[in-house]
Amino acid sequence: MRTSVLLSRGARPTALVEAELDDPRAHEVVVRIEAVGVCHTDLVTRKALGDRPAVLGHEGCGIVERTGTAVDTLAVGERVVISFASCGRCGQCRAGHPAYCDLASALNASGRRLDGTATIRVDDVPVFGAHFGQSSFAAAALADARSCVPVGDTPPEIAAPLGCGFLTGAGAVLNVLRPGPGDRLLVVGAGAVGTAAVLTALSDGVEVVVAEPVAARRELAARFGALAVASLDDPVPSVTHALDTTGRPEAITRALALLRPRGALAVVGLGPATAGIDVRDLMLRGLHLRGCVEGDAEPSLLVPELIRRHTEGRLPLDALVTTYPLDDFDRAVTDQRAGLTLKPVLIPPG
Ligand SMILES: [Zn+2]
Ligand SMILES: [Zn+2]
Repeated sequence: MRTSVLLSRGARPTALVEAELDDPRAHEVVVRIEAVGVCHTDLVTRKALGDRPAVLGHEGCGIVERTGTAVDTLAVGERVVISFASCGRCGQCRAGHPAYCDLASALNASGRRLDGTATIRVDDVPVFGAHFGQSSFAAAALADARSCVPVGDTPPEIAAPLGCGFLTGAGAVLNVLRPGPGDRLLVVGAGAVGTAAVLTALSDGVEVVVAEPVAARRELAARFGALAVASLDDPVPSVTHALDTTGRPEAITRALALLRPRGALAVVGLGPATAGIDVRDLMLRGLHLRGCVEGDAEPSLLVPELIRRHTEGRLPLDALVTTYPLDDFDRAVTDQRAGLTLKPVLIPPG
């Protein structure tokens, strides 16, 4: 079917172009995209692909328009958020940890389906598609039904980032660190992932400290009840749990030092590959250091939980979102880099 897609080529300005979307395979659906978040990984992938034409976007939300012959879990007309792709059959998937699926990189980062076929063609030429099993910077996207989670009547611009960014921050708190009332969580970096973690922890009655250099982001976290400091060089109380969203080695070592005995630090930021860790301190104080991808979430479980909290007014995710037309992607990215917006969400032409 014909659809319009936002085509990226390296650092060149993006453009909306006409494209041919493949027909859905047996387990796939076509989703008419209503909103799609911009996530850091889109920008990292764009850089890594160089000049190769690509359709990115992996926080799609929209209405199921067509279903493959074997899809019995979704109905045409239903609103879904599209999360990352996983096989559903390997040991990690069956144990409820699809972010660590054996086929994660082939399904999410190869630019094609698992069988090597392309999902999107522009001028009859296949382009990098199937990004995180979707490529949803587009008016319509193909996705495996398994990656789609129904979101009811949740506004699409709120539901879209639940596919990745919000899922990552909230899941790091609820699935990995699991602080409770009486605990204190340090969040380093209050971008979209960090702020989603902050709000999720606050919604469970956890005391939260945020370290974030951008004043507007500090003010937002403080407005919802977190103690906000500009840097970890400021006086910060000791904490039971910490989450680093920056990937900066010095932030990771400082966060470890701020943990109380038996405290836990989870890292979710992509930074340099190595950091100097005081292994003796780790051992003597019984600290935990954990990595975490996609909040170690099973989207079909965590997305409904986050929507429930949002509906109850306990998780004000709408405060994080700014909408832009899809073809204003470049401005959205510039605004995000300048700290003017936390989570840009793009709206395709209707
Ligand atoms: Zn799997
Ligand atoms: Zn993402």
